[in-house]
Amino acid sequence: MITVQKYGGSSVASTEKIMTVAKRIKHAAECSQVVVVVSAMGDATDQLIAMAKAISKIPNERELDKLLATGEQASSALLTLALHELGTQAVSLTGGQAGIITESTPGKARILNVNPERLSQELNEGKVVVVAGFQGITENATWADITTLGRGGSDTTAVALAAALHADRCEIYTDVDGVFTADPRICLNARKLDSICYEEMLELAGQGARVMHSRAVELGEIYGVNILVAHSVREVPGTLICKEDDTMEARNPVRGIAHDTDVAKITVTSLPDRPGIAYQIFHALAEANINVDVIVQNVSSQGVTDMSFTVNLADLAKAQSVLDPIMQNVGAKNLTTSVDLAKVSIVGTGIRSHPGYADTMFGALAKNGINIVSITTSEIRITCLIDKADVQQAVQSLHDAFELEKPDGPVKGE
Ligand code: ASP
Ligand code: MG
Repeated sequence: MITVQKYGGSSVASTEKIMTVAKRIKHAAECSQVVVVVSAMGDATDQLIAMAKAISKIPNERELDKLLATGEQASSALLTLALHELGTQAVSLTGGQAGIITESTPGKARILNVNPERLSQELNEGKVVVVAGFQGITENATWADITTLGRGGSDTTAVALAAALHADRCEIYTDVDGVFTADPRICLNARKLDSICYEEMLELAGQGARVMHSRAVELGEIYGVNILVAHSVREVPGTLICKEDDTMEARNPVRGIAHDTDVAKITVTSLPDRPGIAYQIFHALAEANINVDVIVQNVSSQGVTDMSFTVNLADLAKAQSVLDPIMQNVGAKNLTTSVDLAKVSIVGTGIRSHPGYADTMFGALAKNGINIVSITTSEIRITCLIDKADVQQAVQSLHDAFELEKPDGPVKGE
C-alpha cells in the first residue's frame, strides 16, 4: 500500500510542530509505504516574497521561483531529520529530484509529467520519501530551471505524486478539520462537509476557498484520486473529495459559499466599440499568464464603451504594466483600478437543475442592503462582485438563506 500525505505550512511552522508531524508519519509508515509532501514553514513563503520585493518592485520571476522553492526545501530536510531522530528511515527530495517536470511559466507552472522512478526506488528501499512541495523543474535537462506551481501548490504536488504512484490514499493535512460550507472564521454556523465532489470543490477553490489548490482538485478528478482533507493534529474525520455519487450525504443543492477578498478591478474607459479590441486586451493578459474573471462590457454609446474585469490582487501590478503600452494602440482613454471589492459565490451541482437560486441569492443580498457591482455565473455557480466591507455579512446571509447549517436543507427555488 502507498500513502501520500501532505502537511501544510501551519502544521510545520516550528521545529516542535515538525516533531509532532514526524511522529504521525512514523505511525503511518508502520503499515504503508509513505510519501510525504511538505509546505514551507509557517509564513516562510510570504517572508521570502517580502524580501524580494524590498529589493525589487516587480522581482524577476525566474529568480523569485528559485528563491521561493527554498522554503519547501528547508522544511522537507528538517522533517527528514526529525524522522531520523525517531529511528525512521527517510530521505528528502526537491520537486525536481522527485521527477516533477513542469512547463516553464514561472510562478504558476503546470505539471507536465511525473517520472516516479527515483521515488519508487527509495520507497522500495524502505524509506519514507519527503518531497519539497510546490515546485518542479523544466524539461530541458541541461538548462533545467526550478519552477513553482503557484501559491498553495504543495497540494498539487501531493495529488500529482499520488496519481503517478497509483497511491491508495492521498491525505492533505492542514490546520482546519476539512472543507466547510463557508469559511468558519467569518460564518458562525459553517458546517464541515463529509464529502464533496471534484466539480464543486473546484468552483469553491477557484472562487477563494483556501482549503485546496484548484489544480490539485483538477488533477484529482482527471486521475480519479480520492483526496482526504483533514486536521494535522486533531483526530476528527475530514472531508473526502471524490466523484459525485448517489450515496453522498442527502444533499442541499447548494454546497457552499466561497468568498475572495484578493480581488482587483480594472476598468478601461472610452474603448472604441469595434471587432478585435477585446481580443487585444485579453490576449495581452493571457500572454502574461494573468487570469481574468467577471468581465463586464457596458452598452456602447457613440461608438465607445467601457470594459471592466477583475484579476487576482497579486496580478494587479503586472496587469497594469501589460496594459499601459496597449492603451494607446486600442485608442482607450483611461485605465482605472479598484481594490475595495470582493467576490461572494454560491456553489452546488444542484444549481444546474433547479431554477431560482439567483433569485434567493440576490434577495438575501438585497435584504441586507448589499450592492451588487457585477455578476458572473457558471453552470454550478453564481458569483457577485460586492464591496469588500460587506463580505462577512454577505457570506452569513447567504449561508442563512440557503440553510447550509442543516445537513440536508430544503431544496430552494422549486
Ligand atoms: N509555500 C507555498 C505557499 O505558501 C506553497 C504551499 O504552501 O503549498 O503558497
Ligand atoms: Mg501554504
